Amino acid sequence: MDLSRFPRRHYSVGATPLEFMPNFTRALAALCPAGQGPRVWIKRDDMLGLFPGGNKTRKLEFLVADALAKGADTLITCGAPQSNHCRITLAAAVKEGLKCRFVIEERVPGSYHEDASGNHFLFRLMGVEAITVVPGGSNIAQAMQQVADELAAIGRVGYIIAGGGSNALGGLGYVACAQELQQQFFEQGVTIDRVIVGSGSSGTHGGLLAGFLGNRINIPIVGIGVSRDPADQDPLVHKEAQAVADLLGLDMVIARDSVVTEGGFWQPKYSVPNAMMVEAVQMLARTEGILLDPVYTGKIMAGLIGLARRGYFKPDEEILFIHTGGMPALHVYERELSA
Ligand SMILES: *Cc1c(COP(=O)(O)O)cnc(C)c1O
Repeated sequence: MDLSRFPRRHYSVGATPLEFMPNFTRALAALCPAGQGPRVWIKRDDMLGLFPGGNKTRKLEFLVADALAKGADTLITCGAPQSNHCRITLAAAVKEGLKCRFVIEERVPGSYHEDASGNHFLFRLMGVEAITVVPGGSNIAQAMQQVADELAAIGRVGYIIAGGGSNALGGLGYVACAQELQQQFFEQGVTIDRVIVGSGSSGTHGGLLAGFLGNRINIPIVGIGVSRDPADQDPLVHKEAQAVADLLGLDMVIARDSVVTEGGFWQPKYSVPNAMMVEAVQMLARTEGILLDPVYTGKIMAGLIGLARRGYFKPDEEILFIHTGGMPALHVYERELSA
């Protein structure tokens, strides 16, 4: 598929590594039925640019190019108090000489602290221009529009980026990732049977799915919900994948059953730690020296481990875990992870 007709900024150098994880694979097998588990590969999207980058870096390459084409001087976006998406959007804004404003949704009451560490510290360090904090369940789109209106009133031009950068244009970032993976599978001689990816605002899962289907990559994708179980998550991913396919002009109807997500690993609540997440973060750190985060990738890896324990994967099945980043949030949860 030809992505070259979409304006794009470049925030990373080359492809992120695709690596086999021998020690983790061995440790996982010991937890699986009959001591046999899948062989686990990792796509290091935690090594994307706008360091410490993550999946938002890929989406922003297309979104910020669009903002610049429209003459914006300020990026406006939204997220939770420790949002990686807000932090990476701010890094892109700084790099491009733009200003940046956030609407922060306090999804867990009392979770916003002006002096918090982790991503919040980085918001201040990189010089966010303004933060509007609203209670969970607020109309976020309206709150962002209000910020844009305030800027317009003083002669400035804001560009609103949807939560998580997940719209059709942002999803192109993961179409690009699908194409990058296809080339790496070929060059490295790797045959993957299944991909495990996080599923939140759904641009990553939906974009990757559209990219796989559009490029005829016949590898099933399993999304691990970070805030919703399948009944609520699947329709979101399906809508995103279809929007991305439509933007690409693929003339393709995304089959509803190509969207697969698993729930049960994110509870009790989005961003609130659980024991499976702690086990997953410690296991990857102690077998491969790779750092996950408590809010997203820790729970996504907990999903991979949980499915493996249930015998979901065939023995020796080759599976690929997409590491979507998030490392700065680790420091906010030091107490929970220090066992
Ligand atoms: C945002 C985020 C996700 C979820 O990706 P979506 O595209 O919103 O579904 C996963 N991992 C990390 C580290 C993130 O910051």
